[in-house]
Amino acid sequence: MSLHDEVNKRKTFAIISHPDAGKTTLTERLLLFGNQIRSAGTVKGKKTGKFAASDWMEIEKQRGISVTSSVMNFPYNDYQVNILDTPGHDDFSEDTYRTLTAVDSVVMIIDATKGIEAQTKKLFRVCRMRGIPIFTFINKLDREGREPLELLEEIEEVLDIETYPMNWPVGMGKRFLGIFDRDGKQFIQHNGNEEETYIPYEDLNKPEHQDLVSQATYQETKDELSLVEEAGDTFSLDAVMSGEQTPVFFGSALAPFGVQTFFDTFISMAPTPGPRKSTEGVIDPENPDFSGFIFKIQANMNPAHRDRVAFLRVCSGKFERGMNVKLARTGKPVKLSQTQQFVASSRDTIEEAYAGDIIGVYDPNAYRIGDTLMEGKTHFEYKELPQFPPELFKSVTASNVMKSKQFKKGIEQLVQEGAIQLFKRHDNEANILGAVGELQYDVFKYRMKNEYNVEVMLESIGERIPRWLKEEQVDASLFDERNQLVRDREGNYVVLFRNEFALNWFKDKHPKTELIDLFEAN
Ligand code: GDP
Repeated sequence: MSLHDEVNKRKTFAIISHPDAGKTTLTERLLLFGNQIRSAGTVKGKKTGKFAASDWMEIEKQRGISVTSSVMNFPYNDYQVNILDTPGHDDFSEDTYRTLTAVDSVVMIIDATKGIEAQTKKLFRVCRMRGIPIFTFINKLDREGREPLELLEEIEEVLDIETYPMNWPVGMGKRFLGIFDRDGKQFIQHNGNEEETYIPYEDLNKPEHQDLVSQATYQETKDELSLVEEAGDTFSLDAVMSGEQTPVFFGSALAPFGVQTFFDTFISMAPTPGPRKSTEGVIDPENPDFSGFIFKIQANMNPAHRDRVAFLRVCSGKFERGMNVKLARTGKPVKLSQTQQFVASSRDTIEEAYAGDIIGVYDPNAYRIGDTLMEGKTHFEYKELPQFPPELFKSVTASNVMKSKQFKKGIEQLVQEGAIQLFKRHDNEANILGAVGELQYDVFKYRMKNEYNVEVMLESIGERIPRWLKEEQVDASLFDERNQLVRDREGNYVVLFRNEFALNWFKDKHPKTELIDLFEAN
């Protein structure tokens, strides 16, 4: 198969959601379609005490959480599917954000009974910042949830994105009859017992479907759908691809209902790997020279196995095991021999990979997050990893002052690795650690103890809203203990606002001071 064909059959995406919206259940359905597991119920959530099939590192087993954003790949129809898992809940971290830099599209699951929840909103912001196409699956239609129109309105308002319903549900909970599949021009009837009947629109007036169409719920929904068709946004693939419109599918991952149609439509519409920006202009995925970037480094927490795995997204050319490439940051050659790909339940050695694929590379402590690896004569770097603004802040000190040297070295290395972000107070140079999720502090504490032999004390400052300032606009007298002035690793000034109220108050008082939100600046 040619490089062109290989690249154009790859569909690399992540599923984002708030905990309990149904990510595990939906992922499991997709793995079933891909014949990766034999029956539902194999991929267990941590709540049951078993582990998701995607959990593979020793640390995850010890802690019962999915520290990594694992990858699952399998062939489906004519495509090669790569699903990247985005861990949530207590295991939410900057890695979750970074994972989104390695995908070409995203599936956002929303629980129909709850609407948009906090974590969905956070992850959505990252997709928006990067212009990633988003496909929405509104789940749990088998339960009494919110009205479809109300859910679409909420998505439009809260996330500021156009919606285009690909299908329209008829009833919900016990009254759930099925969905109008607008794209396929058919009614998909829900028969319970994992069965769906596909009725083309033109057959709906046949006598055998009178029981269905004569129901009040059906009639009402049909009128509602006419309204949506008249007044709603028109479908635009361009708008979807630029992340301005999201196709919305209603269904139930558990029933299951509408999942097959959703997946087939999504997979055919989702983008294949596209060109990526580099310091030397845009790099085409079909460029024959191999290149890729590292978006995550997983340190094994088991002291007996101090190996590290770097996750690399292939961006162009063909990867072959054992190949010699160049590490762009240092210009030094490296041989990629110990590489793995990730299948649901195991780690296999990978022999070849193409743009869109994710490979695990053994890391002899040589790589950094954001590194570019490449072959060929040209020299460039991908600039795919922005600094993500943290939300949680803690001050950090060494328990034992005698250990200040190791303390400094440990922090320096872990910060450089991207495990956590370091800020210094403007007034007294005290260290403050910023994180996206609580887990990052646990990992930091654990690794400081195990790798640098330093016990650290962390004291929570709480949630803060960071805003970057232009150096020439900094006036330290405007800030205090409540809204602290700090500097980031690069020396840039940042204000940690106590809350939304304090931020707005400041904006009113000092309209000339520019406050930069990294989510919008990147
Ligand atoms: P995750 O935390 O997003 O991975 O969510 P899970 O897939 O573990 O689902 C959370 C809970 O919701 C579980 O008890 C699921 O059985 C349930 N669930 C998932 N999808 C559906 C659905 O379509 N309908 C109903 N009624 N429950 C669902």
